[in-house]
Amino acid sequence: MTKLVLASEGVFPIIKDEKGELIKDTPKTGLPVSGTIQGEGKLAGITSLFIRLSSCNLRCMWQMEDGSYCRCDTAYASFHPNKTKELTVEQIVALVKNNLGPIKHVVITGGEPLRQKKALATLCKQLKTELDIHLTMESNGSMFDEEVAKWIDLFSISPKLSNSNPTPAKLVHYQLEETAPLREHANNRVNIEALQAYINLSNATNKQLQFKFVAGRTEDAREIKKEFLNRLTNWKSEDILIMPLGATQEELAKSTPLVLDLAVRNGWRFTPRIHIDLFGSKTGV
Ligand code: SF4
Repeated sequence: MTKLVLASEGVFPIIKDEKGELIKDTPKTGLPVSGTIQGEGKLAGITSLFIRLSSCNLRCMWQMEDGSYCRCDTAYASFHPNKTKELTVEQIVALVKNNLGPIKHVVITGGEPLRQKKALATLCKQLKTELDIHLTMESNGSMFDEEVAKWIDLFSISPKLSNSNPTPAKLVHYQLEETAPLREHANNRVNIEALQAYINLSNATNKQLQFKFVAGRTEDAREIKKEFLNRLTNWKSEDILIMPLGATQEELAKSTPLVLDLAVRNGWRFTPRIHIDLFGSKTGV
């Protein structure tokens, strides 16, 4: 039996368990129905169900233009992947099936989903063959896997800039010891070959792609061009999105004007983070 390790929310937001029976608790959205909206990117606003996998190969923490710090908004799935649940592919598919209703979009997110690429390929295959759904995979773009990619309709890739590196000052701020994953972040975060593979596959097929760059400083635009776009070929400008840094409404309010300016100056698509506007920094929404 193929199993995956999911973060604490697992499949969310849902109102029915894997047997199809009603769950006692109301979803964290506060709505008495399964599903929420995709908050970011080309499909922002589309009703979706999410599957959050545990564990990430990166440890993002950023510094904003005003000097303040902000870090991964799903630290429980990346920094501290200990609150987890292990489910079989069949259990996950049953949860999705029982909670789909009129929903057509399922989003696999993390953490970094490709950390579990073998089991993930099995899950994606089963979701796509058993259910009539559109499947998005959200990834940091540091990995590519052909077996998983086969089943994905939208690659939502968020490559990480150097501002995400856990520098000594950030470790002091967050009171963290320098562990191996924190040390390896800078080496792991950019994989041009993997990013090019996503571009090539989307150009050769009808699969959709978006590169969603998180930015919060003026110099981030230069880095997006120099370290990513200038090293990649055949990308389409409509697939380049820029998103304000921040996991809370206060942080987003700080970075949004700057990112709006960068988007307009460079002809990139601006993407909001609607779920934070609607639900704040709550998990499972
Ligand atoms: S890549 Fe994403 S999930 Fe991983 S640490 Fe960075 S923000 Fe968090």
